[in-house]
Amino acid sequence: MLLTITNTTPEASDLGYLLHKHPDKVQTFNLSFGAAHVFYPEAGSTRFTAALLLDVDPIGLVRNRRGPKGEGFSLDQYVNDRPYVASSFMSVALARVFNSALGGRCRDKPGLVDRPLRLEVRLACVPARRGGEDLLRRLFEPLGYRIEAARHGLDDTRPDWGESPYFDLKLSGEVTLRDALSHLYVLLPVLDNDKHYWVGRDELEKLLSKGERWLKGHPEKQLITNRYLRYTSRLTREALSRLVDEESDPDAEAEAHDKEEETVEERISLHEQRHAAVIAALKASGARRVLDLGCAQGALLRRLMQEKQFEAIVGLDVSLRSLDAAEDRLRLDRLPAAQRERITLMHGSLMYRDRRIQGYDAAAVVEVIEHLDPPRLAALERVVFEFARPGAVVLTTPNVEYNVRFETLPAGRYRHRDHRFEWTREQFKAWAGQVCERFGYGVRFLTVGPEDPEVGGPTQMAVFEVRPDADRPGVREAP
Ligand code: SAH
Repeated sequence: MLLTITNTTPEASDLGYLLHKHPDKVQTFNLSFGAAHVFYPEAGSTRFTAALLLDVDPIGLVRNRRGPKGEGFSLDQYVNDRPYVASSFMSVALARVFNSALGGRCRDKPGLVDRPLRLEVRLACVPARRGGEDLLRRLFEPLGYRIEAARHGLDDTRPDWGESPYFDLKLSGEVTLRDALSHLYVLLPVLDNDKHYWVGRDELEKLLSKGERWLKGHPEKQLITNRYLRYTSRLTREALSRLVDEESDPDAEAEAHDKEEETVEERISLHEQRHAAVIAALKASGARRVLDLGCAQGALLRRLMQEKQFEAIVGLDVSLRSLDAAEDRLRLDRLPAAQRERITLMHGSLMYRDRRIQGYDAAAVVEVIEHLDPPRLAALERVVFEFARPGAVVLTTPNVEYNVRFETLPAGRYRHRDHRFEWTREQFKAWAGQVCERFGYGVRFLTVGPEDPEVGGPTQMAVFEVRPDADRPGVREAP
């Protein structure tokens, strides 16, 4: 496996300083999976080329259990493409051999580090799985490279076998050396899509540190992150959320506030009673496929999973942190396949029409609407009742009249600092009534928690059901 990097910027020999490798020497580095040799096939003042030859030892791979996993003896442990293609092994070699350059350190000429150079990078055999040349372009062109890619056939003597996923790749561009190395470091495993070792937290840190200067702005950051972290969805979500340009952490604030709300309501464990009431209403509606919209950390989802009636259960939330917590709580990675298939977590917002939530029998929208400003509430109404249009919607929100009965809640304060409103029973009924009017639903109201003769119950619940005679969706303007 051969990688060459050529500098054609005047004073091309600067490349030697940046790489911290003497042009007259051949150097060899021993790695756990083979050896890496560095040398300079050309060292002129107008063209200066460094080569990294990676000699992967396939037997060593099996011994070190870094090769493809196989039960007992399997030939593909020994016969595979690992020794010949640019993969994560090349990334590991780059990081080891060109450590200083990748980290942006140059002992003799530190001023060179941030200087863009005219570079040509050649890789003898790049696997571009599931995407081919188009994928190469999508990954490298946004980073400022021109691409020449020549595809290898599977076997020159058997053209009928067709094409292989392997390319000879040449990238040319004006970039700093450290950026070029970090692009290769991250993107080679992404192209290969076949990482053979466990992806843990330190892989996430590597991705974020090596991609620090460019991943955030890359149009394919989702694909890059997914593949680099090998679809371990939790790490991927964390990586993507850390790539978002956001100084404060709204999720963390929301979490702190959630605790506050729980304390206020805890004396009657309202939370649990609410979920019990929602489940009862969902079951009574006859639903088999259900949505939990604004599922937070998955408390309701867990109870839904215990009910055999629900064959397909979807939790959707806008907060990544909450979805991570839900994934943990539900122990998704440990569920038997049949159970695992019943449940799906989706990252999404109820502000936007979303095809993924169409076609369900029922939806729970539990303690969500009061977190939305009025224009956003209007968006949610259309997204849920007009576009997703489940047969039934079970929706809860605090009854503000009851707040005087909470001893720990100062007068006039909402139960949760993020609540934009808390409604009286009248206000809730008026709102629900106009929703029914516009979208063709009928509604009945229930109370959750101990009912007080004067102020009603702490939580109010509405169960909407599509009216059989309703026209197909189409917003009817509120009168
Ligand atoms: N239904 C849960 C949590 C209610 S807290 C329960 O019964 O305990 C409100 C939840 O709605 C939070 O998890 C928040 O992230 C989510 N949320 C707020 N705005 C949202 C939006 N626009 N789209 C989807 N979820 C949203």
